[in-house]
Amino acid sequence: MSLTPRDLGLDRPISRRDLFDGIALASLGSALGPVPAARAASTPFAVRGDTAEALSVPHALRDGRFWEHAGAPEPTGERYDLVVVGGGRAGVSAANGWLLRHPSARVLVLDNHDELGDPRPPVRAAGPDAVMCDAESFGADTLVTTASPGWIGRLPIAEAARRDLLRLHDEPPDWFPGLSAEAKQERLAELTYSRFLREVCGAHPDVERFCRTMPSRDWAYDARAFGAIDAWGTGYPGFAGLGLDRDKPSRYNSPTVRRDWHGAAPAAAPALDGRALLRLSSPVVSVRDGVSAATVGYFDGDRVGTVEAGAVILACWSAVVPYLVPELPEERRRALRQVVRVPALHATVRLRDPGAWRRLGVERVRWTGAYWCATEFAPPDSVRLVATPCRSELGPDAGSAAGRRELIRTPYDVLERTIRDQLARLLGPVGFDPAGDILEITVNRRGHAYPPEHCRPWHAYHPDGPFPADAARGPFGRIAIGGSDSVPAARADAAVLAAHRAVAELAR
Ligand SMILES: Cc1cc2nc3c(=O)[nH]c(=O)nc-3n(C[C@H](O)[C@H](O)[C@H](O)COP(=O)(O)OP(=O)(O)OC[C@H]3O[C@@H](n4cnc5c(N)ncnc54)[C@H](O)[C@@H]3O)c2cc1C
Repeated sequence: MSLTPRDLGLDRPISRRDLFDGIALASLGSALGPVPAARAASTPFAVRGDTAEALSVPHALRDGRFWEHAGAPEPTGERYDLVVVGGGRAGVSAANGWLLRHPSARVLVLDNHDELGDPRPPVRAAGPDAVMCDAESFGADTLVTTASPGWIGRLPIAEAARRDLLRLHDEPPDWFPGLSAEAKQERLAELTYSRFLREVCGAHPDVERFCRTMPSRDWAYDARAFGAIDAWGTGYPGFAGLGLDRDKPSRYNSPTVRRDWHGAAPAAAPALDGRALLRLSSPVVSVRDGVSAATVGYFDGDRVGTVEAGAVILACWSAVVPYLVPELPEERRRALRQVVRVPALHATVRLRDPGAWRRLGVERVRWTGAYWCATEFAPPDSVRLVATPCRSELGPDAGSAAGRRELIRTPYDVLERTIRDQLARLLGPVGFDPAGDILEITVNRRGHAYPPEHCRPWHAYHPDGPFPADAARGPFGRIAIGGSDSVPAARADAAVLAAHRAVAELAR
């Protein structure tokens, strides 16, 4: 039976926060503290109403709306040895690396977020211990605990699909008999995991339907985009009969799979050196190299202020760089625009009483087709949800661009309704009331969440290059590009690598 908006509690006065790339858009409910609504109203380019897109400086720059309304830049009179654009891992590493070389340098870090260090669910958490075979995929909801023996027999899928899945788990054959290990890996590198299941294994369509969201939580796209070679590397079902050496990755595996092969855990995010000055809510809108210094302009909510810099490291998303530095040669601008980050949506729901989740008896639930693909208990009293707007059937690049548009346009109400609906479906049977048991919902729409990962079958240049980032990076006068997008890898360690390279480039 479907629940009405009232049953779900959509009319309840709770704390609601809608963040867009880390910036609070508006206070939608009663109880939460200060939000930049006044600033938003005075923002000169908020011409399309209070939508996320209208309030985003990078989007206004991209669409050519920004300078129409921004007014003339005003020098603040400040001068720094280094200005870093972007206060993520790469920006912090660049500032720290610079101060290590030049201990008395004046360093300014500018970031467009309201705050740094927002909570991020770890990419490599333990796998789910239950799967919700949901109504979207299978017509009705069935929660199946995968930690207990015989779970495949309890899946609400066709009998033939159960047999196929059992075989893929327990005794898959050698799908490519007679081929060398290298040739087998090449074959896998040509396929997505979905195609592998359908075309190589000939599995019943319910098998692909059941497996589709296996990579979604960690990669922000599903098995229609996730490569079979990385599925093999991650230990997904279906590959054991190939007899491939599991001691080392394939050269075709994407950088993160290769990095994680021996269980390497990413280092904790570095803290910004106390000598550096951090300015938040300060999106940079222009970077120009000049005769004696570079000039960096940023929007402070009312006007564009400019500071002078002996050096500039752009540790922001690559795709915004062409708009900040229009003097860059066209070839580099094109290469920078090609670097497409993957969008992701994270929500945190604080519960009145976490007892319902505890009664469920599982920690992490994967959903097979519903809007939110992962729901996880976050002690002491919250549930974390992940959704992946990427249109996986188009691949990671085109799918991310299409998904980002969708992510920005989706009204907050729709997100809240889907959250309440899925929590009711999951926890309702163990005594949860979606109307009364939710205290607070925070949604973070990350249009640029994961740096692009070079992966097969989508990027023929991987692993031998040249990579789009090769053409994009390199110093440009006093300006260097140092975000993780500029490295042919993704994830946190790439950010540190990119930052250190940029510091070294400018120190030459
Ligand atoms: C939810 C989530 C979980 C993750 N978990 C892991 C993990 O467990 N392990 C792992 O290895 N990696 C993980 N990653 C990936 C890792 O966080 C990133 O690869 C890495 O932090 C990227 O660092 P960065 O500094 O290059 O980019 P970012 O962290 O994106 O920083 C770029 C900064 O630039 C700012 N910016 C953009 N444009 C402008 C502008 N015009 N002016 C001023 N500032 C601007 C942005 O607001 C942002 O703060 C995760 C990523 C996400 C989103």
